[in-house]
Amino acid sequence: MPRRTATVQVDRSGRVLALSVAWFTDGARRRAEARAERRCVECGTPLPTRRTPYCSRRCRWRFHGHYFWDSARTYVLARDRYTCQICHRRTRARLMDVDHIVEIGCGGAALEYSNLQAVCRACHREKTRRFLQTRRHGPVQDRTTAAPAL
Ligand SMILES: [Zn+2]
Ligand SMILES: [Zn+2]
Repeated sequence: MPRRTATVQVDRSGRVLALSVAWFTDGARRRAEARAERRCVECGTPLPTRRTPYCSRRCRWRFHGHYFWDSARTYVLARDRYTCQICHRRTRARLMDVDHIVEIGCGGAALEYSNLQAVCRACHREKTRRFLQTRRHGPVQDRTTAAPAL
């Protein structure tokens, strides 16, 4: 799966501000290619028909998630099995957040799965509080080597 940069504008919590034109140009082209070749656009699994370019709901979420925050959120919650990646407690999807491991403000990618994790509200609040505190008092992190402060 080639690395791609989605041109989506998001606010600091990751909400999409403007829908990406990439979904209609790049995304549509990739879906059409996959349909013609009868394979899943996300994982490449061969498919029996040209009706859909997705082998499963999971691949549909995952592919849409390269372009839209809501799908990225759905996919990440399922991938992490509705378990907080900080305190490892399992909870309901509507009580969970999807967090940027490296904050967007520190150069973290908004819609990159390796930078997204499921977290519970309490852990998310705590992580955000600590982040704002270190930003105010601590040294400025280097953008290229910023490690997740967990
Ligand atoms: Zn697939
Ligand atoms: Zn937690």
